[in-house]
Amino acid sequence: MPGPGAFLVGEEERREVEEILQSGYLSRYGSLDNPDFKRKVATLEEMFAGIIGVKHCLAVNGGTSAIMASLAALGIQPGAEIIVPGYTYIATMSAVIAVGGVPVLAEIDESLTLDPDDVRRKITDKTQGVIPVHMLGNPCDMDRIMKTAREHRLFVLEDGCQALGAGYKGKRVGSFGDMAAFSLNVNKTITAGDGGLAVTDNKRLYERAFGFHDQGHIPSLLGVEFGARTILGLNLKLNELTGAFAIGQLRKLDRIVQTLKVKKKLFKDAITAGGIRNMEFRKINDPDECHTILTVLFRDARTARRVSQSLDTIPVADSGWHVYSNMEHLLAYKDEDGNRPYRCHMLPQTDDILSRAVNLSVGVVDPGIGASFGINILSKDQEIQRKAKMFVDTVKSIVD
Ligand SMILES: *Cc1c(COP(=O)(O)O)cnc(C)c1O
Repeated sequence: MPGPGAFLVGEEERREVEEILQSGYLSRYGSLDNPDFKRKVATLEEMFAGIIGVKHCLAVNGGTSAIMASLAALGIQPGAEIIVPGYTYIATMSAVIAVGGVPVLAEIDESLTLDPDDVRRKITDKTQGVIPVHMLGNPCDMDRIMKTAREHRLFVLEDGCQALGAGYKGKRVGSFGDMAAFSLNVNKTITAGDGGLAVTDNKRLYERAFGFHDQGHIPSLLGVEFGARTILGLNLKLNELTGAFAIGQLRKLDRIVQTLKVKKKLFKDAITAGGIRNMEFRKINDPDECHTILTVLFRDARTARRVSQSLDTIPVADSGWHVYSNMEHLLAYKDEDGNRPYRCHMLPQTDDILSRAVNLSVGVVDPGIGASFGINILSKDQEIQRKAKMFVDTVKSIVD
């Protein structure tokens, strides 16, 4: 079950894709002299950079690839420590390991995003960077994270995969760090099935990311070889069909976020009016968040478990590969010295918060993040009121 963009696939995407089907030209590279070449991927990149408010954007084949290309561009030293939150999709960790870095897990706070105090505590002389992840559409506390990073000369790569469309202090997330990564998989704000975007204001970083995404190529529309390569790369390219589809979705982004904002407010207000005691909403770091999820925090884990069971969902702590202690392959990972750096219960604050948290869907309906109960972007007022009442009655039958 998908994110809001997936609910709204329609005419706009069809028209964009139709152009490519008719021309039959699928590669992102081509000559402007060729009328069959529609430059969809290049157009997507320009539009996306404009929306985030940065100079450069590189489209790739997934969010994981966007993180890897960004890390490669930033130049990970072998064995460099990169601070990541213990609550994020596993791709944040696996991408770091894939390019030779070592993820160092840090706590989250009651915003369910990286705890800036713990970032400070986790810095060692091997730390090279930090990846703040804007989890469930909530922007991280970027002021404090950027301040710490600058003081310690660390790079900041924003993982915005779950927060496309969110803003922080008047700017879009993705425009604060040295680089940022976004995803177009089916559970995100908008989708193209798969796809990713890496953004930056720094031309050199963009050129290196571009090279990494295609065998060291220097950025060009034509993709022809010129000059000496400075970076070894892979092939993480996006094709024109996916690029075209993504353009159709990207045009809907503002409408999606505005619609979710209205629906989330209705849902939240109706729940608040229910007068549940001993329950809070998670801390939101900026009201300009994505509005994709409504997270509630109970006083104890037992209540969260009983409430979620009654609603046929799960507490956030049980949501598969978003919680470090549920990532069996990460826990089994051995470093060069044969040590296992990752253990269950190594982040007690994160464990406590997630055990008390329940995600209610607003825009993203995804059992993978524990958000199978709630509303979606198509829910009408009556359904929103009904779901809020169902939630309130369920909690009251358990708590009161
Ligand atoms: C989805 C996601 C990714 C990975 O994106 P893909 O497009 O699935 O590769 C990375 N980080 C976070 C936080 C995500 O939610």
